Amino acid sequence: MSVLYNHFQSQIKNELKKEASYISAGIEAEGESYISRITDEDTRITLITSGGEVIADTSVDAEKLENHLDREEVRQALETGSGFSIRYSDTLTKRVMYYAVKLSDGSILRVSATQYSAAAILISLAQPIALIIIVTLILSIILSGRIAKSIVKPINELDLDNPENNDTYDELAPLLRKISKQRKMINSQLREAKLQQEKFSLITENMTEGLLVTDKNMQLLTYNSAALRLLEIEKPLNGNVLVFNRSRVFRETVESALDGKRTQNEMSSGCRRYNLIANPVYEDKKVIGAVIVILDITENAKREQLRREFTSNVSHELKTPLTSISGFAEMMMNGETSPETTADFARSIYDEAQRLIALVLDILRISELDERDSGFVNEPVDLYGLSQEIARRIKPQADRKNVKINIIGNNIMIVGVKKILDEMIFNLCDNAVKYNKPDGTVDIVISRDENGTALTVRDTGIGIPKEHQSRIFERFYRVDKARSKAIGGTGLGLSIVKHGAICHNAEIKLESEENIGTTVSIIFPS
Ligand code: ADP
Repeated sequence: MSVLYNHFQSQIKNELKKEASYISAGIEAEGESYISRITDEDTRITLITSGGEVIADTSVDAEKLENHLDREEVRQALETGSGFSIRYSDTLTKRVMYYAVKLSDGSILRVSATQYSAAAILISLAQPIALIIIVTLILSIILSGRIAKSIVKPINELDLDNPENNDTYDELAPLLRKISKQRKMINSQLREAKLQQEKFSLITENMTEGLLVTDKNMQLLTYNSAALRLLEIEKPLNGNVLVFNRSRVFRETVESALDGKRTQNEMSSGCRRYNLIANPVYEDKKVIGAVIVILDITENAKREQLRREFTSNVSHELKTPLTSISGFAEMMMNGETSPETTADFARSIYDEAQRLIALVLDILRISELDERDSGFVNEPVDLYGLSQEIARRIKPQADRKNVKINIIGNNIMIVGVKKILDEMIFNLCDNAVKYNKPDGTVDIVISRDENGTALTVRDTGIGIPKEHQSRIFERFYRVDKARSKAIGGTGLGLSIVKHGAICHNAEIKLESEENIGTTVSIIFPS
């Protein structure tokens, strides 16, 4: 528009010049009347005297027009022979161009024409311009669609697994090279991440402790299979961490860790007991999750319970003989006994003291066995030789009841702790004599087969009623308490045997029938 506007202006100016020269030639030839013959409405022609008075005008009545001497173009024409000026008319959309020439008689001929302003030109061109825009738009849509397709199609068909093997337009080559480079980088990062992941799962999967990691919204991020196993969950889970365990303790532990506090709690699930340790995970001083470790403390809790029971049983067992001793001693001290009964009391005190010693010795043995790491040394032990030695020690006691001890088998060696093996066999033989009938027998049989080496102690004693058989290996358990005490039992003998068997990975078998006899076998693995 700008280019055209300037072009039109110079063209109009040239035309005005030409028109002025033609008309001035006409006036020079024909005089003033020549103007009245011109009928063109677009061009206004004015004839002005050298004094500025309008003589004739093709558009306006000449008499009504004021003196034109002050008009720019008129002044220029009077001075230089020709003048040109542009003025805006009343309406802003139009501007009028004036060209004036001086005639030979000194009067001025002025020709003027209207030029439309840029806005007016624009308005008049609006229709064709709109048409051009619409056509251009349609063409652009069609063409850009086609071009886009021709660009995008090869891109969509790219084999991104092998970016550099693609045969496509050259402009894509830098992009493909970049993709190939990034692919290599991603692959190596993936390999690295996979390696890290494998390392992480190798560590966590080999943990016996359960491990759960959650984000700050309690959503599970990861867990190990020990966590599933410990909480007795069969299939893998995801989502909220509380699906692992809906107990209040579990929820409170996790919530407290997410509040930024390290928390430790005990919790029960089924018949098992767990220790929960939850630690908050921080990033930029903000808690972003929690790590929960689950420890199975069932065995520890059981052991603790047993220990408590044992302590209370021990106190009870010690209290009885001590009370008797104290009672007898008090009576003797107060002189309440005659010289004859004093001897009886002294014997009773001696017997109770002996029981106490036996009890304390057994308790010491049990405690020693409880401390798995008591410095026991494994060595080859001849079970036959050991049995002979024990039989010799027990013989006086057996003779008192006229019980015969037989050792059957031959020298068989096993690897074990001699001291413990001695106590085990001694306790079995001691029971076999203690709970035997007068004139009974005790057989110690040593044998070896594909299942291992067996040491069996068989007696012809009172036997153990069926209902007691499963409990006699418990600490302080006796079938007939009074009887056991009367014959010097502590209730710990078979517990020592059981512990000793555990130390040697051996198995215990018990067969017993009331009034017929009891057979206890210890089977050592071969
Ligand atoms: P105790 O010191 O009382 O003998 P043990 O632990 O050795 O304690 O044995 C536990 C109980 O088992 C005994 O009190 C007894 O009732 C029973 N018992 C053990 N061995 C025999 C056996 N050979 N014959 C019959 N009863 C037995």
